[in-house]
Amino acid sequence: MSGLEVDVAIVGAGPGGLYAATYVGLRGLRPLVLDTLPAPGGQITALYPEKRIHDVAGFRAVRGRELVERCAEQAEAAGAELRLATRVETLDRSSSGFTLATEHQEQVRCRAVIIAAGLGTFTPRRLPDAQRFEGRGVCYVIRDPEALRDQDLVIVGGGDAAVDWALELEDVARSVTLVHRRDRFRAHEGRVEDLLSSSVEVLTDAEVVHLHGDTHLVAAEVLDKRTGTHHKVPASRLYAALGFTANLGPVADWGIGLDGRAMPVDRCMRTDVPGVFAAGDITTYEGKLQLISASFGEAVVAANHAANHVDPGLRVFPGYR
Ligand SMILES: Cc1cc2nc3c(=O)[nH]c(=O)nc-3n(C[C@H](O)[C@H](O)[C@H](O)COP(=O)(O)OP(=O)(O)OC[C@H]3O[C@@H](n4cnc5c(N)ncnc54)[C@H](O)[C@@H]3O)c2cc1C
Repeated sequence: MSGLEVDVAIVGAGPGGLYAATYVGLRGLRPLVLDTLPAPGGQITALYPEKRIHDVAGFRAVRGRELVERCAEQAEAAGAELRLATRVETLDRSSSGFTLATEHQEQVRCRAVIIAAGLGTFTPRRLPDAQRFEGRGVCYVIRDPEALRDQDLVIVGGGDAAVDWALELEDVARSVTLVHRRDRFRAHEGRVEDLLSSSVEVLTDAEVVHLHGDTHLVAAEVLDKRTGTHHKVPASRLYAALGFTANLGPVADWGIGLDGRAMPVDRCMRTDVPGVFAAGDITTYEGKLQLISASFGEAVVAANHAANHVDPGLRVFPGYR
């Protein structure tokens, strides 16, 4: 088994993990970030790389992949090493610190750990009976908006991803129809107002009940749940933004206290295991918000307390540079 020694190991290269690595590096310590996925960015890269993000400070709007590129570049500039396509399987404590074992039989020894494992692994929720059209018109992640140019696009869902993409693609696709099974959206109110005054056809209290096409999707059959009537909507492409199921994976077996799938932390982002901190979507505390900007803030707190844990001579407050 090969080995590696660093100051702080960070599990997860989503926005929280990348920013924690930046701050650990800025404190003069050696951070290593490990992630199961082959590219950094966590949920952003896996689920919405092309979506514009409107609620990260400093940007009026930024594409997911651009934000990730900048976070990864910043972490590497601060001295962080990224090990991608590397799942961390176990975490063991010893008197001198921690040992993480990866799926590649590698051992990482470190003095402190920051768990930024988000929701673990995530799988998009499938649209019932849509399997035969996957890759033939139906998709669960939009990777190339240009591929939707001049297409008749149906978007299914009522969350931020559905609303943001409907607005973004309004001027790209030939037509955009948004189908949502409820009459209320789970999206930023301002964006919903924009949607309702846009050219997007919004069908609420409605469900896609059948897909039509031979070798490729051509139409979606929509049920209006208020009237019980069915009608066909032209659909050369359908993007199903139905959320995803998450599985915490190995992290759940590391002996760190959990509340459901989340890790309770104190105000210093400490878990119940001394030397193990957490940041990002995996954490829980009163008032918790699962947002990128919240992950950034938690990462700063976790990284600075981890630095002080590794070297008590380092003050928690980093000062200004
Ligand atoms: C469709 C969608 C749209 C969104 N839009 C917005 C938005 O507009 N604005 C906003 O603020 N937030 C948005 N979010 C939420 C935002 O993406 C999350 O809050 C953010 O990604 C959390 O970052 P994180 O670093 O905590 O975790 P994640 O991004 O989940 O990253 C965690 C990483 O940990 C890795 N990992 C887990 N277990 C292991 C292991 N054992 N070994 C190695 N690696 C492991 C995973 O592979 C993953 O890459 C959206 C989420 C979704 C799903």
